[in-house]
Amino acid sequence: MKKLSFKNAMRDRSTGIKKFPKRHLLVVTGVAAAVMTVIGLLPSSQVEAKRSEMELVIDGHQTASPKEELKAVAVTVAVATVPSVAKETEEQKIIREQAKQEAARIAAEDAALGSWQTLTVKSGNNLSTLFDNAGLSARVVYNIAKTPEFGKKLTDIRPGQTLKFRVNAEGTLTQMRYVQDRLNSIFFENTDKGYTAQKITLTPEVRVAYTHGTIKNSLFLASQKAGMTQKMTMELAGLFGWDVDFALDIREGDSFNLIYEEKYLDGEKLGNGNILAASFTNRGETFKAIRYTDKGGDSDYYSPDGKSMKKAFLRTPVDFTRISSKFNPNRLHPIFKTKRPHRAVDYAAKRGTPIKAAGDGRIKFIGRKKGYGNVVYIQHPNNVVTLYAHQSRVNKKLKKGYRVKQGQIIGYVGSTGWATGPHLHYEFRVNGVHRNPITVKLPDAAPIAKSERVNFKAHANKALAQLEQHNGTMLASNEQ
Ligand SMILES: [Zn+2]
Repeated sequence: MKKLSFKNAMRDRSTGIKKFPKRHLLVVTGVAAAVMTVIGLLPSSQVEAKRSEMELVIDGHQTASPKEELKAVAVTVAVATVPSVAKETEEQKIIREQAKQEAARIAAEDAALGSWQTLTVKSGNNLSTLFDNAGLSARVVYNIAKTPEFGKKLTDIRPGQTLKFRVNAEGTLTQMRYVQDRLNSIFFENTDKGYTAQKITLTPEVRVAYTHGTIKNSLFLASQKAGMTQKMTMELAGLFGWDVDFALDIREGDSFNLIYEEKYLDGEKLGNGNILAASFTNRGETFKAIRYTDKGGDSDYYSPDGKSMKKAFLRTPVDFTRISSKFNPNRLHPIFKTKRPHRAVDYAAKRGTPIKAAGDGRIKFIGRKKGYGNVVYIQHPNNVVTLYAHQSRVNKKLKKGYRVKQGQIIGYVGSTGWATGPHLHYEFRVNGVHRNPITVKLPDAAPIAKSERVNFKAHANKALAQLEQHNGTMLASNEQ
C-alpha cells in the first residue's frame, strides 16, 4: 500500500482554531496579529514557515489545556519575533517587548490554575467516586454537573474514557477535561458565574492511500488481501452495484483499484475515510467512479463523464428473505378471500428489519392508516410516490415535509394493519398509477449539475490521474 500526504490536511488543521474557546481565541488573535505585523516585515519564505508553525501549535490541543497551548503559542511568538539577520527597527522592538510581556503574563496566569491529574474511568466508577479519588468533594460534583448545556454529559462516562482535573493551590477545581474519545472532549472551566463548558473536536489529518486487487475466488477474499475492511468492500460493491451484479457477474481476473482516505491523529491511524476514486474491471469492461463534493457540501459518486453512479431509486428498499406476494392486479386477498388487486410487492423479512427510502424525496405522509398500519409515503421528483406499509414502527425523527435521502432508514418491518405476518408492502406510483416495483424502468439519478461541471471535470481528471499513476507503479513493481 502506498501513501501520500494530502493537501487538505494542512487546511483542516487551520480550522482547528475555530474550536478554540472564544476568550482564548481573542488573546491568540491579538498575539497572532502582533506576530503577523512583524512577520510582514520578514522575507516571504520565512513568513510561510512561521505561519505553518503556528498552525501546528494551535492544532495540538487534545492533551494540553487551551491556556497551555496559548503559552506554547506565545513562546513561538517570542521566538518568531526575533529576526536573525535583519536589524530591528524601534517599532519591531516595541512589538517584541509586548509579545514577551504577554507571554510572561499568560504563563503566570496559567501556573495559578494548578497542575493536572488524569483519572481513567473503570467499570463500576461513577462521577462521585472519580471526584472523590481526585480529592474533590460532592459539592464540586454537584456544581460541575449543573454546568449549562454540558454538565449532563458527565453522566455518560464510560470505562476507558478519561477525566483530567486541574486543581489550584486553594484546592479549587479550576479546569476539567472530559475526554470522550480521541477526537472529542468537553472542556470545563471555573468562572465568576460558576462552571462553563465547551465541546472541543479535533480534525484528524487525512492521508490518501491506494490499494488494488485481482479476483481469484471472490471479491471478499481479494479485497481482504488488498487490506480493505469489510465496510470498504461493501462500499466498493455499492459503488458499482448498478453496473455490475456482484452475485452473478464476477469472474476470475476481474480487478479493482482505489484511492481512499486514511485518518490519522498524531501519526496514529484512527481508521479509514471515504473512497475518493475507484475503478472496477468486470470481464474486460472497466467502470470508474469519482467522489465529488459540490458547492453546497453534498458528496456523491459520478462516472468520469459526470453521470451519477446510481439510479434514482433502489430496486428493493429492504433486505428481504423472500417475495411473499407479487404485483398482481387479479389476486385473491389472503384475509378477505375476495378478488382484490395487489398493486405492490410484499417482501417478507424479519420483524425490525430496517426499511430504506428508495430515493431522495420528501415525506408526504407518516403515521397510521387503517389497512396499511404504520405507513410512510415519500414524494419524489417527476411525480413518483413510494409507499412502505405494515411497519412495526416508523422512524420517530421523521415528520411530514422532511427531506430524506436514498438509503436513509424510514422505519422497520412489522405486521401492523391488515397483514398476516411481518413483511414490507411496497408501492411505486407514477403520476398516481401503480407500477410494478420489480419491473418498472428506474431513472438514473441526477447527473452533475451544470454549475458544477467545470469544477467536477478538473477534480475528476486529477483523481483519475492519481488512480492511473498508482496502478502503473503497482504493475511496474509487480513485473520486477
Ligand atoms: Zn401487500
